[in-house]
Amino acid sequence: MYAGQSVTLKMADSGIAELILDANGASVNVLNAHLQDELGQALAALGTRADVRGLLIYSAKPAFVLGADITEFTELFGMQAADISRWAGKVHGLFNTIEKLPYPTVAAVNGMALGGGLELSLAADFRVADKAAKLGLPEVTLGICPGWGGTVRLSRLVGAEAALGWMLSGKPVKAAQALTQGGLDAAVEADQLLDTARTLLKEAMAGERDYLANRLRKQAALDNNAATAAAMESLKQTLGKGLDVRYPAAPAILATVTSAMTEDFHKALAMEAKTFGELASGVEAKNLVGLFLNDQYLKRETKRWAKQAHPVAKAAVLGAGIMGGGIGYQAALNGTPMLMKDINQEALDLGMSHAGSILDRSISKGRMTEAGKEKVLSGIHPTLTYEGFTEVDYVVEAVVERLDVKRSVLAEVEHKVPDSAIVATNTSTISIDLLAEHLQRPDKFCGMHFFNPVHAMQLVEVIRGSQTSDETVATTVAFAAAMGKTPIVVNDCPGFLVNRVLFPYFNGFNRLVMDGVDFERIDQVMEQFGWPMGPAYLADVIGLDTMVHADKVLEDGFPERMGHDDRPIIESLLEQDALGQKNGVGFYEYGTDEHGKRYKRRSEKVAAILEQRVTRSTEITDAEIVERMMIPMCLETARCLEEHIVASATEADMGLILGLGFPRFRGGALRYIDNLGANLFAAQADAHAECGPLYCLTDDMRAMAESGKTFY
Ligand code: NAD
Repeated sequence: MYAGQSVTLKMADSGIAELILDANGASVNVLNAHLQDELGQALAALGTRADVRGLLIYSAKPAFVLGADITEFTELFGMQAADISRWAGKVHGLFNTIEKLPYPTVAAVNGMALGGGLELSLAADFRVADKAAKLGLPEVTLGICPGWGGTVRLSRLVGAEAALGWMLSGKPVKAAQALTQGGLDAAVEADQLLDTARTLLKEAMAGERDYLANRLRKQAALDNNAATAAAMESLKQTLGKGLDVRYPAAPAILATVTSAMTEDFHKALAMEAKTFGELASGVEAKNLVGLFLNDQYLKRETKRWAKQAHPVAKAAVLGAGIMGGGIGYQAALNGTPMLMKDINQEALDLGMSHAGSILDRSISKGRMTEAGKEKVLSGIHPTLTYEGFTEVDYVVEAVVERLDVKRSVLAEVEHKVPDSAIVATNTSTISIDLLAEHLQRPDKFCGMHFFNPVHAMQLVEVIRGSQTSDETVATTVAFAAAMGKTPIVVNDCPGFLVNRVLFPYFNGFNRLVMDGVDFERIDQVMEQFGWPMGPAYLADVIGLDTMVHADKVLEDGFPERMGHDDRPIIESLLEQDALGQKNGVGFYEYGTDEHGKRYKRRSEKVAAILEQRVTRSTEITDAEIVERMMIPMCLETARCLEEHIVASATEADMGLILGLGFPRFRGGALRYIDNLGANLFAAQADAHAECGPLYCLTDDMRAMAESGKTFY
């Protein structure tokens, strides 16, 4: 009946037409412009046939349809809201055509139906899925709402509360849950899927199942009465409570669904399209889509490196402290047995018990079993000696951050492992080239910089020294990925990428404080901006000793920009034994009050220091605080790109997002400059020129501002 490159329509037996989705040359089906076009043509062909009495829709791929083609969103989201709504309306038209067919329709969902894929299946009268299938509407994670009828059909089919559960979390649900909630009509073994779907269709064609009743259920509005209004209001209150308003999609989905439930079906679809257009034309959706694409890029880069990688069957970590313990745990969790060596038995015991408590938390959340825990723990082998090191392919050094200690430990371990083994360091600040100076095999040495806490932080900076070989980088990238992390390759420099751009931000903070701006206000403003914690709180969490140490490394590395005229406040705090959270006193004091409630309040130590050291006062707006904090960080990121410390804007921004918690909805430092416009960013930087060289544009940035060029 119709044979396209991705859609085929054929007549099967007894009046059943089959619509088969099988994107030509691709491993998955996505509803891109091409597939939409072919779907339209197939439906037009179907409309001309008088002999069809039922329609079966299925996929010839391992999954049904994974959703829209997100690579098409970059261009689409640049359009006006009304045009984007019209674009969504076109697909509404296609799905409405399926829903209006004068005979029953069944979708057989295999593997996965996400976003637009699920919405396509919702256009059918019945849905059968294989038991292992996952169904979901993940649009919220991209800053948008489902735009092809999902907010309307799913809410009417399973109820607003259940549907909002799917839409607000964005997480796919298993077939069993979808079946219980009413989103599916059957869930069967994968090899029974098509037969069951055909049988169901035949039953509907024979009048044994009321397909029109099913159809109506997806379209019927709730009665517009006081009880419905109260129920919707209660949903808004309960589900709205935990939503982060800086991410506008979730509140918009909640508002649209709760107000559309009493509306006529077509009016509700129009409301959905309007919300979709508004969200998709907003900057948050552009940034979140950008992040999704950035993430895809990183995955491709990792795959590319992995081709040159050597297998890591067994590894070791030196040091069982905060980082070494975490690295050992993370590798064992992901199936690489780890020797964990320390010079101190207590540290080894602590490392093991720390791993145990992370696993216990996973057990209490239902994500791990006792047997699983034992298996992970048996993969970590604590040791005080180098026994077994002749068998390892990879060593990560995570001993104390001292050049002399690291140098001697690295030189020692090089002799204990096979010549083919790679030795990496988890240093956060010391130059890879400096550490490589006394090594026999500097080509097999690089940085493998994890972030704290290792199990929770996604990023690993893979630092290439000037003598590091491609194979070493490749094996490190592959090993980090095998540990479930996202590696980004950077070149060696003080602070590497992430700490190099973090400390200019702290310098901006220090200057603001010295200018008399209250640090708690700065924290509030930056948290409002989107950071998980403000700079003073973050410094306390990192530890003021670590902060001062790293700050000195960066000051030495970049004295012209990161040197201080006067001692930074963190140094004054450290002199008074304020270490931050680790000893309960930093910018804030941390403790538990007489009612057992934990508190965080302005510390007396900082109050005394500020009283003594801060002599200025400054009138400043919240927007200016943001500028003075963000400009040094953004400019340093641009410098890292110019100096090839990092290879692309994508990797730079992802490094900040995954390593520092840069607000996701802002898309990263370079995306932030793009969104402002390089000219406006330059004007802001110029306006703060008196704050010092960290606010000075590079020549390249100046040229960008003049030409209107962008990073993306
Ligand atoms: P830590 O003090 O918690 O642990 C260091 C461990 O190394 C201790 O258990 C110590 O006994 C052990 N050790 C010392 N000499 C040793 C030797 N010769 N052989 C084996 N073990 C030895 O320190 P940490 O916070 O885990 O930091 C370790 C490394 O990771 C440092 O280079 C640090 O800069 C880096 N790092 C730390 C963080 C962080 O936030 N803590 C983040 C990223 C990177």
